[in-house]
Amino acid sequence: MYPRDGISCEDLIKHADSAMYDIKKSGKNNIAVYNKSVHSIFEQQQDIVHELALAIERNELYYEVQPIYDNTGSRIIKAEMLMRWNSEKLGSIPPAQFIPLAESSGLIIQMGWWILNQGCLLSASVPDIKICVNISVAQLIYPGFMDGVNEILRESSAAPSSLALEITETFILQNNPIIADVMDEISGAGLDIIIDDFGVGYSNYDRLKNLPIACIKIDKVFVDSLLGSAIDQEYTKEIIGSLVRLGKTGHFTITAEGIEAVSQLEALRELGCHSIQGYLLARPMLPANFIKIVQQSYSAG
Ligand code: C2E
Ligand code: CA
Ligand code: CA
Repeated sequence: MYPRDGISCEDLIKHADSAMYDIKKSGKNNIAVYNKSVHSIFEQQQDIVHELALAIERNELYYEVQPIYDNTGSRIIKAEMLMRWNSEKLGSIPPAQFIPLAESSGLIIQMGWWILNQGCLLSASVPDIKICVNISVAQLIYPGFMDGVNEILRESSAAPSSLALEITETFILQNNPIIADVMDEISGAGLDIIIDDFGVGYSNYDRLKNLPIACIKIDKVFVDSLLGSAIDQEYTKEIIGSLVRLGKTGHFTITAEGIEAVSQLEALRELGCHSIQGYLLARPMLPANFIKIVQQSYSAG
């Protein structure tokens, strides 16, 4: 209602929209009046989505890379691509905030192609390092996902074996035939599949043996428990140790992420964990820095 709910046409429509959204959430067929305090979070999110839709063409997206080391912590074997957004209008927004909105709005499809392409381009500068790209479930079930991946690989002349796709555990381990088919396509094309955030969702160990996975990434919550009480530590070591043993049978490796302390690194090495990622060894960095440290390590032998 003008002027109570806004004085510009744009504001009135936006506020009517958030009142409508409220009704949809509570079961449709109703009337709602705009309420500033209730709706401001929704509107804030709408603003972010609006700006995010323009982010690619405005060149506001960039990425950082975080090295993943072998279990001695001395050699980089993989690297994870982490998307960043510096919005001209909203400033720097953390991925934990913009990725879920990109997923719910569908924008993640376009953003996902962008970062995958960046990963392929980066891979040319660091040929011995596997580049790991996070993939949302919306991308996986997008029709022709693998055709798109193959096209990007072809155009960038990157080898499929230079890439790994990180997919969150919650989606991989549910029994979804579409996702299972795409996973077969990915692995059949020669790309590695990494199960990300392993251990936080509903971990269905039985499904693991039938999946074409190359690696399991143990979530930071487990790595954190290695600094907890004696019983926490013991329990966590048993879990990680059993995953390492499972991996030997199932031919997948184990990466631990979020390592911040030397004692965690030592425990993980003793447990036979294959690779290590965390602030202790390296924080996410701009690609130019990453290429530099990789090349320095080559020349140092
Ligand atoms: P993730 O895939 O679990 O990525 C690891 C996150 O842990 C990153 O946060 C990384 O910066 C952070 N991290 C790494 N080592 C440490 C450590 O030692 N300590 C602590 N406290 N944190 C550490 P970031 O970059 O903020 O990304 C958050 C999440 O956003 C990612 O979690 C991922 O789920 C999502 N994300 C980031 N980039 C992309 C992308 O390109 N596509 C998709 N679909 N999701 C992405
Ligand atoms: Ca990840
Ligand atoms: Ca993770």
